[in-house]
Amino acid sequence: MSLNVTEIEKPLYIKVHPDDNVAIIVNTGGLPEGAIFTDGLKLNERVPQGHKVTLMDLKCGDAIIRYGHIIGYVKNPVKKGSWVNETMVDLPSALELDELLAPEQAPQPLPPLEGFTFEGYRNSNGTVGIKNILGISTSVQCVVGVVEFAVKRINNELLPKYPNVDDVVALNHSYGCGVAINSPDAIIPIRTLQNLAVHPSFGGEVLVVGLGCEKLVPDRLLPDGDTSNVILLQEQTGFINMVEKILEMAETRLKRLNERKRETCPFSDLVIGVQCGGSDAFSGVTANPAVGYAADLIVRAGGTVMFSEVSEIRDSVHLLMSRVVDEKVGNDLKREMKWYDNYLQGGQVDRDANPTPGNKKGGLSNVVEKSLGSVAKSGNSPLVEVVPPGAKATKKGLLFAATPAGDFVCGTLQLAAGMHLQVFTTGRGTPYGLAMAPVIKVSTRNALTEQWKDLIDVNAGTIATGEATIEDVGWEIFYLILDVASGRKQTYAEKWGLHNDLCLFNPAPIT
Ligand code: CA
Repeated sequence: MSLNVTEIEKPLYIKVHPDDNVAIIVNTGGLPEGAIFTDGLKLNERVPQGHKVTLMDLKCGDAIIRYGHIIGYVKNPVKKGSWVNETMVDLPSALELDELLAPEQAPQPLPPLEGFTFEGYRNSNGTVGIKNILGISTSVQCVVGVVEFAVKRINNELLPKYPNVDDVVALNHSYGCGVAINSPDAIIPIRTLQNLAVHPSFGGEVLVVGLGCEKLVPDRLLPDGDTSNVILLQEQTGFINMVEKILEMAETRLKRLNERKRETCPFSDLVIGVQCGGSDAFSGVTANPAVGYAADLIVRAGGTVMFSEVSEIRDSVHLLMSRVVDEKVGNDLKREMKWYDNYLQGGQVDRDANPTPGNKKGGLSNVVEKSLGSVAKSGNSPLVEVVPPGAKATKKGLLFAATPAGDFVCGTLQLAAGMHLQVFTTGRGTPYGLAMAPVIKVSTRNALTEQWKDLIDVNAGTIATGEATIEDVGWEIFYLILDVASGRKQTYAEKWGLHNDLCLFNPAPIT
């Protein structure tokens, strides 16, 4: 996976599309003034790794083209061989959503891929989980201290007796009380919690801990209204009694979960989420296209892939519109984009609030450039469903789950939509993880993989240096998904027990 010295020293850039008038620098550490590429291009100044160099002279106001699309306009003239950074670029206006139309003929699915299965846990309601987890839902933040205390005891005293159970996970969150529960947008956090409570990796077992006076009544988290799955702390006599009651209810469920065994399941039962975090200019040429290739393999094999991150899709939504299977999906896509436009407007920001300082340091000038790289994760399959935030997916194939791009919020909403496992691409690096699902981390650069050998599961940096192809890394990701979903391999996040908090998306007011 490492680069040899001559490869590091040879100046290398990547031009993605024949029409591009900028390219990004591949070499670790960037390149100095005077560096000459094999085609004779000479750098007028130092250009950092992942940043853009102009391939021709640009006049004031000229379009900057990357991925074959306009990512911005230069504010001042730029000479061939110069560095184009984010301070030199004007943002193009947003695409007019009403002008976008679904294609007249539905796009054809990619050729099917036969013969792939995985080993999962079949639930009595027909769904399949890839982990065997005791989930403890909470209806309000007030109970979290008690639940955490109980979880420590469950881990120490009960889990060792039930070796077939992977983990106990408390669904702690900040919602439930002090919220405007009748606001129309409150449906987002509420349905998120409802769907999380019955996640397929919880084996059909439900356990809800509530307080007793909260606005989000615990019964709303029960799929069948069976109140024997609820414990209310205000009905218990003292703290120790609360904890004992939770342990008792936990053990009943652990006994049943412990009896479960993996069985061979068709690929159509598998739901994979993809997202990126800490992106850089390589994301769109290495890790995201490789994940997109893997996404196509999963869909071709009959599985489901959901991609997300509305603010990163907004500027490439025209590319997705040409892939929607019918007018309804097209309208759903536009509806979610408009909702998010208004949401951002309410906070007096626009879509360019998205790139982080780290994204920019990694070479991404603005949200348009980030978006064109981000959408590569979706591959080339037709888009069959748009899932509103917090809702559960109902179709199989390629889905767009409309979520914010923030990693923890996106992860939480994809879990609510039914995701079993997430593939996460990163260029800057993040130790991100989820408690309820394995996360496969894919690095965009060799240098990050070297630096974080014990956190990165797949290195896509080899695509930039020509050591591997997008197809090679795509297949590697596909086979790793199969192994992790079947319990044969662990991701680094699983091995170290790394996970971020569950973060609900609550656009509704707090009272
Ligand atoms: Ca993200």
